Amino acid sequence: MKVLVLNAGSSSLKYQLLDLATGAVLIRGLCENIGMHDSAHRFDRGFGELKRSEIMNDHHDALQIVINTLLEPDRGPIKSLDEIDAVGHRVVSGGEYFTESTLIDDDVLEKIGICSELAPLHNPPALAAMHACLEMMPGKPEVAVFDTAFFQTLPPRAYVYPLPYEYYTDYKIRKYGAHGTSHRFIARHAAKMLGADVRDLRLITCHLGNGASIAAVDHGVAIDTTMGLTPLDGLMMGTRCGTIDPAVVTRIQTLLGYTPDQMNEIMNKKSGLLGVSGISSDLRTVEEAALAGNERAVLALELYAYFIKRYIGQYFAVMGGADAIVFTAGVGENSEYMRAQCLAGLEPMGIVLDARKNRIRSGERIISEDRSRVKIMVIPTNEELMIARDVEKIMDEVHQAEVTAEMVEETLV
Ligand code: ADP
Repeated sequence: MKVLVLNAGSSSLKYQLLDLATGAVLIRGLCENIGMHDSAHRFDRGFGELKRSEIMNDHHDALQIVINTLLEPDRGPIKSLDEIDAVGHRVVSGGEYFTESTLIDDDVLEKIGICSELAPLHNPPALAAMHACLEMMPGKPEVAVFDTAFFQTLPPRAYVYPLPYEYYTDYKIRKYGAHGTSHRFIARHAAKMLGADVRDLRLITCHLGNGASIAAVDHGVAIDTTMGLTPLDGLMMGTRCGTIDPAVVTRIQTLLGYTPDQMNEIMNKKSGLLGVSGISSDLRTVEEAALAGNERAVLALELYAYFIKRYIGQYFAVMGGADAIVFTAGVGENSEYMRAQCLAGLEPMGIVLDARKNRIRSGERIISEDRSRVKIMVIPTNEELMIARDVEKIMDEVHQAEVTAEMVEETLV
């Protein structure tokens, strides 16, 4: 089965065409700076990345370029769009409507539109991509896979904010979480690596990239996560501040006369590693500056690790322990320094990192000492594969339902 996975951002469209029979990625690419003068298409058919400047006024234009590239005579991975069995779309917010991935129809499109107020930069371009697919590949099944769906299992005590309850009932202000597809992927994969059923494990999954979040996955079910109504909450990130005293916000606004939009910009784009170090939002650059003796870079790293450690402790407490802590994404997969920092001193909790294994560079791996009660794991995330697998599962269900309907009809005749 071949699945086209689309991930639309405000000015970008990422894609992969996967062949689930072999697990091969036939092509991966990115249309960037859509709607700007320097829009371009980068793609890789397995022989290295190519970049072409292309005029792309909107996501419709971008999808047309993707399709042209897929069908390029002699070089494209497919000869006809009929070879694509279905399309999977990453959707940032499904609000409270969607607890799992779903086949797209008019009702689903409408609800994703309503959820745009929760993800104003992401849901509208995803909708644009869905409509473009409907137009360019009519009749092709499309599936929506939601970042928030995995966290719809959170109990009210984890998702209700202790504000007047009406804000939740009237305005849906609550914790929704994000990165759900990645947490779901690494939780399942961790169970597979441990030779266990995910329903028998308590996992703390740490997605540490530019955006970063941690989840408590208790016996296969997400029961808490660090991101909230928006991705600003929780961990300190590349440019986001994460959890701070809410009164800091109004205090700074009063002191400096900032509007809500300006304050939002500061907390989302100018804080985190960048804000504290004053150097970069990129952990590698901050690590280099710290090594060279820059004190604010050292402080930024300490803070970053401290936030992770505190949440690991919280989720250890809410689950009454953990069987494994799993790291993924740019920082989680690559920074041995950060993994060591955030786990330092946790040996009394049965969390014992193996310094030698922590230095191993690539691939999925267990990096705890054998005596560690809690396994420490690194698993490269693969959200596209998770999306494609969801599409495959839904297509199987659709097929099964059709077969059953046919059998019922034959019986009636
Ligand atoms: P995004 O959220 O944009 O997908 P990534 O998952 O690619 O982000 O993570 C980007 C972060 O990973 C950056 O802060 C980058 O510095 C960090 N990173 C990548 N490689 C390394 C490395 N070898 N050592 C330390 N940090 C790294």
